[in-house]
Amino acid sequence: MFCHTGLFDEKYLMKKIAILGSTGSIGVSTLEVIEANPGFCSVNLLAAESNTNSIFEQCQKFHPQYAYLKQDSSAKELKDKLSSKKLNTLVVNQDDFLKIISGSEVDVVVAGIVGVAGLKSVHAAVLAGKRILLANKESYVVAGELLNNLADLNKAKIFPIDSEHSAIHQCLEGKKETNDDIKRLVLTGSGGPFLNKDIKDFVYITPEEAINHPVWSMGRKISVDSATMMNKGLEVIEAKWLFKLDHRKIDILVHPEGIVHSLVEFQDASVIAQMSVPDMKIPIAYGLGFPKRIKSGASSLRLDEIGQLNFSRPDLKKFPSINIAREALISGGTASTLLNAANEEAVGAFLNNKISFIQIPEIISFVMDTIPIKTVKTLESIFEADALGRESALNRMHQLNN
Ligand code: NDP
Repeated sequence: MFCHTGLFDEKYLMKKIAILGSTGSIGVSTLEVIEANPGFCSVNLLAAESNTNSIFEQCQKFHPQYAYLKQDSSAKELKDKLSSKKLNTLVVNQDDFLKIISGSEVDVVVAGIVGVAGLKSVHAAVLAGKRILLANKESYVVAGELLNNLADLNKAKIFPIDSEHSAIHQCLEGKKETNDDIKRLVLTGSGGPFLNKDIKDFVYITPEEAINHPVWSMGRKISVDSATMMNKGLEVIEAKWLFKLDHRKIDILVHPEGIVHSLVEFQDASVIAQMSVPDMKIPIAYGLGFPKRIKSGASSLRLDEIGQLNFSRPDLKKFPSINIAREALISGGTASTLLNAANEEAVGAFLNNKISFIQIPEIISFVMDTIPIKTVKTLESIFEADALGRESALNRMHQLNN
């Protein structure tokens, strides 16, 4: 999409955007925000894994210069579809995909690929000094310290669009560096679909129930992470790297309505919170527009209609993943990579009906207790630990099922 209406100041005009994971929940919401703000940007690259139909429709509407599909057969199908409609979008291979992210044709990278599969592209964007709107929390969970160091060296900006971290960014008025003024951060979470379910019935939970989130409409993997509350654990790790805070200063509160997206308590005991309807278009619009506020297309918050907001502490017996993630953060090194690898494998297996819901944290704990933790020096050390964590998780699943 290329448009210029003169609605924006020169310095904010025509950001060249790459949307990674364009066919997913974050990608689609990002395109909706872009549509709500004509003249704000040009979509130069769309990328996904294999969803040919969806990315083809996006190409017809937004006319990106480039498109990338990871799966070769889907990429070929997309090429044929584009040429039958005489569209100029060039379908590129993985090497060129990474080069385009790094090159002058892209200013802003929306990192919306799910899982550690997004790490290479986030890494490329950081090395090239881009502004990265980070939804792909798994990449940052496994490589937060490394990515931060590289971002400092290359003047890249890692900007959160996870709603909780966007909320904290807003509470801090965009001051990313932590300072002594902060007493603690409080990440809120809805508690997922099983907040009030008896723990005795957790063994019967089906994938359909787990992805049926009461507040947010999201992809399947993050929906299961919300149901186990591993999502909050991952977010504590994400917050530690984004705001450079000790994990003991990062608290969690269950807030079923999903209206208060997080809070910051300062040394004087004053608390600032950010509120809105639960719609990812809001943090995406904040990230795209910052420091300007642009339209999100989301509806207004009507507190009078909501009436009441509730808060409670998470039940750590029902949701052990929160503490498993904290332990990984405390252990450091490759521990977060092992955590993430085991979680991705266990969630995938649960979604494919291979293991039960309660086996997800059990498998992750097994991997964490079995594989030695190493120092993270390079991206390769992360991919090595990732492979070991996945192998160990698969072995454990095999043992459990036999
Ligand atoms: P979805 O499952 O809806 O979408 C995932 C996207 O990633 C799809 O476009 C998919 O393509 C693409 N993809 C998957 N694997 C690859 C790969 N190897 N190479 C290229 N593209 C790939 O996920 P969400 O949008 O829900 O989540 C995306 C990320 O954002 C996750 O890390 C999640 O934790 C985070 N996040 C999501 C939120 C939400 O509200 N959804 C909120 C906060 C964070 P295809 O369609 O072809 O499979």
